[in-house]
Amino acid sequence: MLTRFAPSPTGELHLGHAFSAVLAHDAARGAGGRFLIRIDDIDGSRSREEFIGASLADLAWLGLDWDGAPVRQSARLGDYAAALDVLRARGLVYPCFCTRADIVASLSAPHGPSGAVYPGTCRDLPDVDRARRMVTEPHCWRLDMARATAEAGELVWEEKGQGLRTADPVAHGDIVLARKDAPASYHLASTLDDANMGVTHVIRGADLIASTDVHRLLQALLGLATPLYHHHALVCGLDGKRLAKRDAAASLSALRAAGIDGPALAADLAADRLPAGYFLQNP
Ligand code: GLU
Repeated sequence: MLTRFAPSPTGELHLGHAFSAVLAHDAARGAGGRFLIRIDDIDGSRSREEFIGASLADLAWLGLDWDGAPVRQSARLGDYAAALDVLRARGLVYPCFCTRADIVASLSAPHGPSGAVYPGTCRDLPDVDRARRMVTEPHCWRLDMARATAEAGELVWEEKGQGLRTADPVAHGDIVLARKDAPASYHLASTLDDANMGVTHVIRGADLIASTDVHRLLQALLGLATPLYHHHALVCGLDGKRLAKRDAAASLSALRAAGIDGPALAADLAADRLPAGYFLQNP
């Protein structure tokens, strides 16, 4: 068994992260397996170096240990570009020149699990226009969802406690695989990394279950192994809302400063026991 915890270094870790990290760590260690850390730092404008060190210090405070040095997504950009080349050569991605405002302005854009569903404006541009605009206009790369799902056929994955689940990526529309300002999107980077790291069990919050529809599709298109998945309940505050990075009181550094014992907290979380004022909820 090989599991991972993959924080984005855009803020401090909180109790929700601790719960996820403890589940992934204990699952691997309990089975004599390996536990890796991945730093999801492809978003150069939001990632901050100081949060990487702070996150690792928080995990160590909880008493978690991991195998090897943390994997950094910013060091794996070549792999993401190579995968995009493969999809491009098969005509499964296309450049999109639309701005956010263009997409919002499109009245027909409904909302899907990944935000506004792209109306497809750039999907069928004539090749000459495309070639000309690519030279001068910033563009992202989108997956042609209709073609991709036609090629991939029916997709399932095994979800802990639920058996086989059918992946339905269509509702996401033509998602972005490489951004204007970053060489890969979360979906592409996370899927490639989990396969490359040899992750056998993806253990993460239930807020990401819809993303797995897309990840399962990318696995099929790129010939990657499908891990088992466990999307766990989310830690919420008394207001019923799941914790966010702005909830400073629930940050691990605040709990540490308040004198809480890290390994004791990890043991409580492993048994679904949360500190007063917090509870687990399935979205
Ligand atoms: N980096 C993502 C996050 O912090 C998690 C990615 C994943 O587990 O797939 O939300």
